[in-house]
Amino acid sequence: MWFRRDLRLGDNPALNHAVQTAQQVIAIYIHDPEAETPWSPGAASRWWLHHSLNKLDESLRAIDGKLLIKRGNSLSILQQLIAETGASLVTWNRLYEPATIARDSQIKKSLREEGVEVHSDNSTLLFEPWTIQTKQQTPFKVFTPFWRACQLQLAQLPSPLPAPASVTSSTSMIKSMLIDELELLPSINWYSGFEQRWIPGEQAALQQLQHFIHKPVDNYSEQRDRPAILGTSSLSPHLHFGEISPRQIVTATLMAELSGAARQSADVFIKEVGWREFAYHLLYHFPHTTEQPLDARFNYFPWQENKKLLKAWQRGNTGVPLVDAGMRELWHMGWMHNRVRMIVASFLTKNLRMHWLHGARWFWDTLVDADLASNTLGWQWTAGCGADAAPYFRVFNPVLQSERFDPDATYIRKWVPEIAALSNKWIVSPWTAPEAELTRAGITLGKQYPLPVVDLASSREAALEAYSTIKAVEKS
Ligand code: FAD
Repeated sequence: MWFRRDLRLGDNPALNHAVQTAQQVIAIYIHDPEAETPWSPGAASRWWLHHSLNKLDESLRAIDGKLLIKRGNSLSILQQLIAETGASLVTWNRLYEPATIARDSQIKKSLREEGVEVHSDNSTLLFEPWTIQTKQQTPFKVFTPFWRACQLQLAQLPSPLPAPASVTSSTSMIKSMLIDELELLPSINWYSGFEQRWIPGEQAALQQLQHFIHKPVDNYSEQRDRPAILGTSSLSPHLHFGEISPRQIVTATLMAELSGAARQSADVFIKEVGWREFAYHLLYHFPHTTEQPLDARFNYFPWQENKKLLKAWQRGNTGVPLVDAGMRELWHMGWMHNRVRMIVASFLTKNLRMHWLHGARWFWDTLVDADLASNTLGWQWTAGCGADAAPYFRVFNPVLQSERFDPDATYIRKWVPEIAALSNKWIVSPWTAPEAELTRAGITLGKQYPLPVVDLASSREAALEAYSTIKAVEKS
């Protein structure tokens, strides 16, 4: 059983198949980041992976198994292991990124040619990308009809599989690396905030799901847009590493709904899991979108390059409090609230007019839930160049967004404490505060906290102007 991003025992079809079919099962994880270049796991993801592998090994040991750890080319390592053990079947759960599809297809072909049976399953998605189609049998590019088509099949979703009671194997003679030897943990310890916020692993994922569906989900529709409140499930990194399956989430949520949770909120939550499905659908059918805009007009968009501005954005020093709060939350926690992700992405691609890939790459390195499908969708959607995109002329105004979604500025005060003494009225846009208010709060702009790196109104106008140049491209 070749574990990849399905680091769990429950509802794991490939593991289940191996256990049911074979007398002995060898569980292996192969660290092969080169195969995923240029999107091999970023620093925050590697932190999560280190802990998740340890948790999986513990769970396997509790049922008489053990996780073998290897590093290198996946095909060569599987071939060596087969030669060493005489294994006759290799099972895995499918991945859907362009690079992993190419690698896995090659491995499947080579092993079969060598007479080894290969069995792959779906454990990552509710519905595989090729099973949901428009009436014209084409892929969807708009979320609402896509989700409607999925909903028709939700009732037939198979129940999640139980975890195996034991994994019989005799792997003591096979050489394994230690997880520590993979050196996944970043060399600088900037992740102490991650340790406070997150517990990787299957058990923690299941506990988080139970916690969420037994109360917070009732208020999900009202609270999911409030960054100061933990009103969303926080399941995204668990989902990315396959510590929990979307099928387990949807089934448990529907059962909680039957036993009395607020129906509308549960549906809204399941619909968000649907956005993840949509992201995979798009990535599978339009694999070039990891680097190229889905809307080809944006190949001609006059993006700007400015290292200083990019750094100010990355470090949360733009002088726009809500943007800075989000970027600092990301750096310290390896995660950012969804609403704030949209706001910081809009600020980078519209107010600063920098290419969305700069943002996607920074998120890739710093998010514990960095996921190629969801990240690509999120960035292209916000930049206005993807499927079902927010129109380019919709520029999020960080000041209005603060007033609406962080009305008492709790989120800003938490992450931008140097301006915490400003009143709610001025903290959202300190550059508009009267001199007396700044003096009262002990703030000199440009000293404790920067002046805004751009003027929000004129940069918005400049972005719209730039957009008009590619509208002309479409016509010509
Ligand atoms: P909940 O609100 O509890 O939602 C439940 C689950 O639904 C999430 O765990 C996630 O798997 C899925 N989901 C929710 N919203 C979205 C969405 N808009 N797109 C796709 N799936 C969604 N999500 C990632 O998992 N990885 C990323 O790398 C990522 N990058 C993003 C980049 C940008 C610019 C934007 C705007 C969004 C991005 N998202 C990404 C989507 C979203 O922000 C996160 O999934 C969400 O914040 C995770 O928190 P949660 O688990 O509490 O979500």
